[in-house]
Amino acid sequence: MTSDSAPLVYDLSFPQLQQYFKEMGESTFRARQLWQALYVDLIKDPAEITTFGKGLREKLSQSLRFCALSPARKLTSSDQQTIKTLFTLTDQRAIEAVLMYYEERQTLCISTQAGCAMDCAFCATGQMGFKRNLSSGEIVAQVLYYARLLKEEGKAVTNIVIMGMGEPFNNYEATLEAVDRLNDPEGFNLGARRFTISTVGLIPKIEQFAAEKRQVNLAVSLHAANDELRSSLLPINKTYPLFALMQACRNYIAQTNRRITFEWALINCINDRESDAEELATLIKGMLCHVNIIPLNPTTQFAGQATTRERALAFQNVLAWHGIPCTIRLRRGIDIQAGCGQLASLENPE
Ligand code: SAH
Repeated sequence: MTSDSAPLVYDLSFPQLQQYFKEMGESTFRARQLWQALYVDLIKDPAEITTFGKGLREKLSQSLRFCALSPARKLTSSDQQTIKTLFTLTDQRAIEAVLMYYEERQTLCISTQAGCAMDCAFCATGQMGFKRNLSSGEIVAQVLYYARLLKEEGKAVTNIVIMGMGEPFNNYEATLEAVDRLNDPEGFNLGARRFTISTVGLIPKIEQFAAEKRQVNLAVSLHAANDELRSSLLPINKTYPLFALMQACRNYIAQTNRRITFEWALINCINDRESDAEELATLIKGMLCHVNIIPLNPTTQFAGQATTRERALAFQNVLAWHGIPCTIRLRRGIDIQAGCGQLASLENPE
């Protein structure tokens, strides 16, 4: 039995694993073998590592933890294209991750925090409050869980959107360490461009992210194009108002030459009028960007309703007229509460 205080193996970088074997008096080549077993062969138990002798396998399972989370509930949408899993962490906190099957892709939406401190009005995770940050290994473990599941079907994770529970830029180090771990060509090998990080708009972190010049995609949750409405939906707007946020986004584009995605949850008669689209167009015109609109997923503590298909199309048309590319994201898994935090908010203890 491993004790709960043993380090989680997915929290360790490759150099840290090398150090671990060195301290054990083993060849550091073992680190390469373990890395391969974890991130290429996708083993979940050291007993499965055939390149290690029995003694070493036992030492590993006594001194490192291989289980970060266990699936507590699994919900499959009626069309079978979306699977949502509620995981229990070792301290009983609950988080969620969602797998979406598309024709040629398998996209995962993963969490970076249990709960969230940003308190966005319409978000189920925000309504639950902040519980704690996830470690990099707990973020990685969500991906490995689904990667093993997909492997059984002869498939693989092709894209990861960091849009589950939590504000990734409030857990910056762990989030980017997780991306680095999964990005390693000698391991899980998912290209940086296959990742998208979504932020509510934390300007200092957008600046830091821009300076790092990563290939990882950035999405910014806008939802309103004036400060009054945005502050009422996203309280963080009072700290980082639109003018400064847009300046940070422009700087990001100039520094990285990468396209930003602006997210907009369409809420009936609140931000889905043609005049709202006009205001948005004025705000972002000329920027290297793309708008992702998604009809609101209604949540218990927010009175707003989803927009209609006609209004979403009219909104898209206004943007198109201004030459701004815009896609209407399908509402996936609406029947299984696949929206951010909707399931875990029922489960997370106070
Ligand atoms: N904290 C990050 C990522 C989490 S949520 C962020 O704010 O970007 C990912 C996206 O889903 C965000 O754009 C968020 O505003 C949006 N979202 C949250 N709750 C929603 C809901 N009930 N309906 C539609 N979109 C929602």
